[in-house]
Amino acid sequence: MPSAPGGPRLLLRRLREIMAEPVGAQDRLDKIVILIAANMVAEVCSVYVMRGDGVLELFATEGLNREAVHLTTMRAGEGLVGQIAATAEPLALSDAQSHPAFSYKPETGEEIYHAFLGVPLLRAGNTLGVLVVQNRTYRVYTEEEIEALQTTAMVLAEMLASGELQALAPVETGIALRRPVHQKGLALADGVGLGHVVLHEPRVVVKNLIAENVEAELKRLEDAIAEVRATIDELIERGDVAHHGEHREVLETFRMFAHDQGWLRRMREAVTSGLTAEAAVERVQSDNRARMMRQTDPYLRERLHDLDDLANRLLHRLVGRDLVAGHGLLPDNAILVARSMGPAALLDYDRSRLRGLVLEEGGPTSHIAIVARALGIPAVGEVENVTSLAEQGDAIIVDGAAGEVQIRPNPDVEAAYAEKARLRAKRQEQYLKLRDVPAVTKDGVEVTLQLNAGLLVDLPHLAETGAAGVGLFRTELQFMIAERMPSASEQQSLYSAVYAAAGDLPVTFRTLDIGGDKILPYMQAVEEENPALGWRAIRIGLDRPGLLRAQVRALLKAASGRPLKIMFPMVATCNEFVRAKALVERERTHLANHGHPLPSDLKLGVMLEIPSLLFQLREICTLADFVSVGSNDLMQFLFAIDRENRRVADRFDPLSAPMLRALKHVAEEARAANCQATICGEIGGRPLEAMALIGLGFRALSMSPAAIGPVKAMLLELQAGKVAELIRDELEHDGGGDTLRPKLLRFAETHGIPV
Ligand code: PEP
Ligand code: MG
Repeated sequence: MPSAPGGPRLLLRRLREIMAEPVGAQDRLDKIVILIAANMVAEVCSVYVMRGDGVLELFATEGLNREAVHLTTMRAGEGLVGQIAATAEPLALSDAQSHPAFSYKPETGEEIYHAFLGVPLLRAGNTLGVLVVQNRTYRVYTEEEIEALQTTAMVLAEMLASGELQALAPVETGIALRRPVHQKGLALADGVGLGHVVLHEPRVVVKNLIAENVEAELKRLEDAIAEVRATIDELIERGDVAHHGEHREVLETFRMFAHDQGWLRRMREAVTSGLTAEAAVERVQSDNRARMMRQTDPYLRERLHDLDDLANRLLHRLVGRDLVAGHGLLPDNAILVARSMGPAALLDYDRSRLRGLVLEEGGPTSHIAIVARALGIPAVGEVENVTSLAEQGDAIIVDGAAGEVQIRPNPDVEAAYAEKARLRAKRQEQYLKLRDVPAVTKDGVEVTLQLNAGLLVDLPHLAETGAAGVGLFRTELQFMIAERMPSASEQQSLYSAVYAAAGDLPVTFRTLDIGGDKILPYMQAVEEENPALGWRAIRIGLDRPGLLRAQVRALLKAASGRPLKIMFPMVATCNEFVRAKALVERERTHLANHGHPLPSDLKLGVMLEIPSLLFQLREICTLADFVSVGSNDLMQFLFAIDRENRRVADRFDPLSAPMLRALKHVAEEARAANCQATICGEIGGRPLEAMALIGLGFRALSMSPAAIGPVKAMLLELQAGKVAELIRDELEHDGGGDTLRPKLLRFAETHGIPV
């Protein structure tokens, strides 16, 4: 078996010389294939480059017909080369032609070659092309040779990334590295943002690939590994994170990988073959990323992500940079791209420069999504591999309504979105004109439109939208974005600040709604089979009255001399509400006894989110000052559909008879008892649903800030009496569980109501 003259180290050194030569791109590539063929003792060496249209094109060859260069093409998946591109894995065969995927391209004249070794050109897990060597004989390529060709491929991938080969590709396609990518994800926060990628945790771009001194590089690698290991050990041993389940688990996984012999060996081998320490980490990481992008098992994917994180730490250590982006250096029109991100991290960025947020993880009820909505930043979550597909500074568009992302968009796509953004801005202007118009229907029904909020950053929306107050202040958000449990005085100062920001407008504070999907990272998690039905919200409040008492006291103190409205989440029985009321009463007495100024008026309400309360309406309406329907949870429990589970979350329509009847019952009983009934779930903010709610008799809706304009525009054109009649008839005569949506839509259309 022929052995490589000089081995990979010599090859890398020669490659570096060729890279530095002042020649054109094609000449350089031609020299490189000759060099590789000679070094690998192969008759053929070819480079196929992935074009922007996903087709692989022969860019250079030694050994095959030169005429085939820039003529021979294949799709990803087609032939052996296409297969390597599709799987992102090397392929070594002693007889290529007997392989079922072999696809014969007569113009290349390759029929005389038998042995075949191909490796993908990978960068950050993306396949940019394929590098192939072929031999006439039926030879077997050794592990070392495969490894050496992969190392060489890395240098070629960097050449591609530098943009040098762009000019050799057809103008209309370019090379894949810069191709436009359209990704679908999950809509998290409405709005359209156009801008440039800012990676929250920027990848280290390894510039120095080829080692001057292999021994010194090996030592750098070992030192960096030892340092990273020590940091992980230290983090694990440090008390403050030691008990928080998930966090600890991730660190334990890190520790396991940091000692993984296979991983370490591959990096050491890459250095021995002539790469710098950072290039070796990158080389192994790139393979790992390629696997990650193709892995469908969520558990294995998560582990590959962990390994990727660890490699990132190592890279940062080697090139000596901090892990987090310099927040001060945001360009204008920044679109943040991250795998995941905590809400506190988002708040650290300069809001005035942020145009959007794209995440690989993060569902609609994640904390980051809540904060993005509060800040009015268009956001899309669950965008697969976006941190690998997008490069720092790339043009990018976030469509937070459709849940889509366009990376490096074509000019026509960009123009279409710019138009969309302009139209939205125009519509917003029109809504702004409605700001001071009273929310009264055509037939004179007044509807109170309020905001849902949870952070101080939400409060400026009051003035912007002309909302009549805050109908739901989710107090748990302050707890969810904090590093540790907010103290009583921190709570009080937030509530005081909310009062100050709301001016004369009323605010309804909801007590802590934690548990279920709302997890406090610093609170010991309770293992539950079914957290949505578990120990949460008012249940925790009543079982651990210390927490609820402290919050109620903070609210009472913050109100000092002003009216206060408090409501309790997830109430299932009248008795729970009675106990919560008693707790508030005790706190009020306590403060009064200590000479504190009390609220000028105190109203206590329940959230109706659990169906059991539908069957205690008469009683609860006499006990409570108001009832606020949390339709998000009421839908979840009425239809037994997990609101977080995309498979089922949209399976049933809130505009179907069961939900509408439940809501009608609430409106009627509340009116009979002279108890105010409001809606504060998402349905109140959708114009068609809001129209139905008004028809059912609701006169107060609380919604996200962006919904106020559209809902007001709808009700200004509405005859409340007419829609009430339609719904009454439908629910009486047809209520087989079908949705009333089409009929309501037709009604809106015929009456010129914008929904
Ligand atoms: C609801 O359940 O409808 C609600 C308003 O509460 P949250 O969405 O915060 O659970
Ligand atoms: Mg709820």
